Amino acid sequence: MTAEPSFRESVDLMFNRAADLMDLSPGLREKIRVCNSTYTVRFGVRLRGEIVTFTGYRSVHSEHFEPVKGGLRFSLDVHQDEVEALAALMTYKCALVQTPFGGSKGGLCVDPRAWDAHEMERITRRFAYELAKRDLIDPAQNVPAPDMGTGEREMAWIVDEYRRMNTTDINAAACVTGKPLNAGGIQGRVEATGRGVQYALREFFRYPEDAAKAGLTGTLDGKTVIVQGLGNVGYHAAKFVSEEDGAIVTAVIERDGAIVNRDGINIDILKEHIIETGGVKGFLGGEYVEDGKAILEMDCDILIPAAMEGVINLSNAANVKASLIIEAANGPITAGADEILREKGVVIIPDMYANAGGVTVSYFEWVKNLSHIRFGRMQRRQEESRHQQLIDELERLSASSDLKWTLSDGFKEKYLKGAGELELVRSGLDDTMREAYQSMRQVWHERDDVEDLRVAAYLVSIDRIAQSYTSKGL
Ligand code: NAD
Repeated sequence: MTAEPSFRESVDLMFNRAADLMDLSPGLREKIRVCNSTYTVRFGVRLRGEIVTFTGYRSVHSEHFEPVKGGLRFSLDVHQDEVEALAALMTYKCALVQTPFGGSKGGLCVDPRAWDAHEMERITRRFAYELAKRDLIDPAQNVPAPDMGTGEREMAWIVDEYRRMNTTDINAAACVTGKPLNAGGIQGRVEATGRGVQYALREFFRYPEDAAKAGLTGTLDGKTVIVQGLGNVGYHAAKFVSEEDGAIVTAVIERDGAIVNRDGINIDILKEHIIETGGVKGFLGGEYVEDGKAILEMDCDILIPAAMEGVINLSNAANVKASLIIEAANGPITAGADEILREKGVVIIPDMYANAGGVTVSYFEWVKNLSHIRFGRMQRRQEESRHQQLIDELERLSASSDLKWTLSDGFKEKYLKGAGELELVRSGLDDTMREAYQSMRQVWHERDDVEDLRVAAYLVSIDRIAQSYTSKGL
């Protein structure tokens, strides 16, 4: 490959690599690949005394399941090709982790840092209005979520705008996910994508033969990690693997450069510094390197690109030293770079799996909104009282027998605690990440013509979408 393909072309190239190994009719193959529709909206908002025109998109890739699902991105780089590529990835991702959604994505060309909160609220509400009046935001048809440049704040404005337009819709809260708890959100959604990255890595290391393909042994403990982008996804992934699994984050790459510390970076302190100063420069817990991109080529066990697409491309792929890359961002490796890395023997845990934690917990949030009850509310105390009965009985037996025994430290407290919403969400997420990994690795190991996890992921996913279209009679 000589020229760098666009993001959309990269996704198509990866799709084709898998589809070539399948027995699909050409018509069905094309139906699955194409993006069904992309709506472009241009609207004006009066700001600072003049009318400012914004351009936004909502792309629907596949409606084999409805609603369709996919984040809203706010960035000056948003364009149709990018939104369509991201919508396609959402289709494949939802099929892989078995959330009952089609794929969609939206974007607005805006720099959220250029406007104050009040101005952003007006821009977001107007964008939401434009999408909602065309059913491109709707609990039964199209459900957005956060992505780059958006978070709980924007989702709260969107759900409120939708409610104003649909005052009698009892399911209005389900029109968007990633909302704050007080606006119908779910515990564990903010951390979900980063948490999913952690669960994906844990599952990968549960199979020594998979880790061996990347030349690695053991667990996450002691592995060196480089993270690009300390936003929602990168921050949580870096925090969890370093605080809970013993991984050592040796470098963090941000917009204004990178911080390197081979003894490990304290992620929370660095995050506080970024919030206070707007960048990593000036952080005292490591050495500052102005050319952040160069740090993608620094030696490490695991590279976690968690910022944006196309950062590992034809210009730097050959120099990347990590033996395992987990694509926390969408599309961080171009199709050309993917080929170079595969030839080098680098193992890539693909985006459609690696960052699926977000849509998985969004699915839980949507179900919670439709059922109008928080997870765990009915059974938690009942579970606790049954556990209490067992403990009481054990303690009675111990007191009445000659053989004196005691429960281990902390056992009683842990065992007695019934699962609340956060525990249930994490358990559901862990189960989803494990199951999806197992379905991918089975194809990876069983088929001689499948050399990497990305093709395995596409095969699982395309097969499920094909079955769904076929059962509809297509
Ligand atoms: P975010 O806006 O919270 O964070 C992005 C971070 O990357 C920011 O800290 C930003 O400063 C940094 N960044 C931007 N450009 C950079 C560059 N050129 N070099 C280094 N750092 C840079 O966004 P997010 O929600 O964390 O999303 C990050 C990626 O994860 C995107 O590709 C997104 O599509 C994907 N993703 C997000 C979610 C989610 O739930 N938020 C779910 C699935 C996938």
